[in-house]
Amino acid sequence: MQLTVLGCSGTFPGPDSPCSSYLVESDGFRLLIDAGSGALSPLQRHAGLLQPDAAVISHLHGDHYLDLVPYVYARAYSPDGAPPALPVYATGGLAARLSDLVGGQAALVHSAYDVRQLQAGALQVGPFALTLARMAHPVECYGMRIEAEGRSLAYSADTGPTDALVDLARDADVLLAEAGFGPAEGPPDLHLTGRQAGQHAAAAGVGRLLLTHLVPWNDAAATREQAATAYTGPVDAVGSGDRYEI
Ligand SMILES: [Zn+2]
Repeated sequence: MQLTVLGCSGTFPGPDSPCSSYLVESDGFRLLIDAGSGALSPLQRHAGLLQPDAAVISHLHGDHYLDLVPYVYARAYSPDGAPPALPVYATGGLAARLSDLVGGQAALVHSAYDVRQLQAGALQVGPFALTLARMAHPVECYGMRIEAEGRSLAYSADTGPTDALVDLARDADVLLAEAGFGPAEGPPDLHLTGRQAGQHAAAAGVGRLLLTHLVPWNDAAATREQAATAYTGPVDAVGSGDRYEI
């Protein structure tokens, strides 16, 4: 299973990275996880504009889904012919929001996307067995464990500290965890600090920690150092274009 970081910037795009977006590949199947602002650029560089076979959107904050707006046009008006509607798993209301953002053209949205309900529990998408769990965030937001080829990748989505993330990531090969607060703690039930991401990784006993949702005004190196004080395994602060064999 391969993970390609398309975007890892939290809240707003940074000078070197779009907002949250990841491509997970196995057995020729490409699963797009989140599609934050700017994600379409590295998608074209590292895969192909129409390559994803399905998408999962963890929650409806703009930094996790806004590139689904221009992607409507990219799919619907492709000069090679519109591909079949992309299965997109998301929490309620995505299709209506996208329709508003493309001038009320609901039919256009539905030609581009087959929007399906995302909820807690098990979900099979192509070769990937997903387990979804509600995270601690102001809107309905799902962290996920993605398994294929006997390997496991856990992704925190956006969350404050929660045992649900530890359960989801238990003994996973890799935990891709947000560290949106960087080195300084913020309000509850919103984001993790680097240290808290490390604490979750240690409690879950994961093999490797990848830090993401790095807000451009925070120091990523300091965030990584903090995580390493709580978790003794390998820790990276990821960058756009980074690729990992899980
Ligand atoms: Zn969020």
